[in-house]
Amino acid sequence: MHDPLPAHALHPDTLTIAHGYDPHEHMGAAKPPVFPSTTYMYRSAQHAKDVHRAYFDGVPLPDGMPPGYIYARLGHPNLSMVERRLAALDRAEDAAVFGSGMAAISAVALSQLRPGETLLHSRPIYGGTDGLFYSVLSGLGIRAFGFADGLDGAAIHAEAERAMQHGPIGLIHLETPANPTGSVCDIALAAGIADRIALSQGRRPLVSVDNTFLGPFLQSPLEHGADLCITSLTKYAGGHSDLLAGGVSGAAGPIDALKKLRTLLGSHPDPHVCVALLRSFETMHLRTERACANALKVADFLAKHPKVRSITFLGLADPDSPEGALMRRQFAGAGSTFAFRIHGGEAEAFRMLDRLRVLRMAVSLGGTETLICHPATTTHYIVPRDRREEVGVDDGTLRLSVGLEHPDDLIADLAQALDAV
Ligand SMILES: *Cc1c(COP(=O)(O)O)cnc(C)c1O
Repeated sequence: MHDPLPAHALHPDTLTIAHGYDPHEHMGAAKPPVFPSTTYMYRSAQHAKDVHRAYFDGVPLPDGMPPGYIYARLGHPNLSMVERRLAALDRAEDAAVFGSGMAAISAVALSQLRPGETLLHSRPIYGGTDGLFYSVLSGLGIRAFGFADGLDGAAIHAEAERAMQHGPIGLIHLETPANPTGSVCDIALAAGIADRIALSQGRRPLVSVDNTFLGPFLQSPLEHGADLCITSLTKYAGGHSDLLAGGVSGAAGPIDALKKLRTLLGSHPDPHVCVALLRSFETMHLRTERACANALKVADFLAKHPKVRSITFLGLADPDSPEGALMRRQFAGAGSTFAFRIHGGEAEAFRMLDRLRVLRMAVSLGGTETLICHPATTTHYIVPRDRREEVGVDDGTLRLSVGLEHPDDLIADLAQALDAV
């Protein structure tokens, strides 16, 4: 048998299928076995000491063997497989996988920020991230500062200056495209601002990007200057609305710090979730492709519908607009989750939602099924009205995650439901 080819020699479509798992290490099993064991036996008392020294101090084992596993909260075989595959897909040195997207974002925040520091972020952001920043971190003495236009370098820099008056910036967090409006940030621009911040305050804050809306096949934040790429694997990676997980990819140093922190927080995914994720990765490129094609058809229908006031979908962005230019530079596709606004408010939106028969009304996104929700009263319920409306989430806004059904069925269902508006 030849050794497998290195990840950089292969296309992502190939990496999703088999990367990170070697059947010859597991009795030839073509597919990964599940390792439910919570604890791992030492070969001798000396081996136990060596293994702990390897884990905590990074000292290689005297016999040159890999250190193996100690206790599942510190790491387990199925977790390593999923981390290797995610790192390869994100073109990263390493990845840390968590029990949910929020566990991943919380760990990034806690690993980078200290009391008295500040956090600079794009707006809008996912409701859970907003809650973390404005109710948990604020209680720890970390103040968050948001900017609404991720393409306006002067405005981002002005917000950074404002933040630095309250304390050094410990992290720049971007969500692009943003939940739920699909507004975008220029990652390279933010990385340049991190360099300028370093000149003012001495330390360069890391730039983290929440890539949940597009995933590794449509956007590679690390290639545009981000330090950490965060993905809720619950969404497009899991892809079937039946597991919770989150991942962070980046350079070995910060990822190792996240893994050590995860050991203390206890926010790792269990072996069954990891194996389900490995399986889901195998079809992610196909699902992504079909969902994008369906979304374009649905978005096109909505954009022309008289009851629809506006739609924010990257796939329909004017190629000559700043979003269109960024789309060419930074995205390989527009994704399949977007927002649209109907003429009217909550009452009209509710009437429309209650008539749907094919689309399912639920939060979340990225599953095989098409999901629709009313962000103001669900996903963004805890975001105060003024902060929500400033970034375009009003009572007539609906978020749609287009799945893999036949697009004509989706369009027919939307057409009959929009008659109620
Ligand atoms: C869902 C989501 C998250 C949180 O992920 P969970 O797996 O639900 O914890 C974070 N960011 C974005 C953009 C999301 O859509």
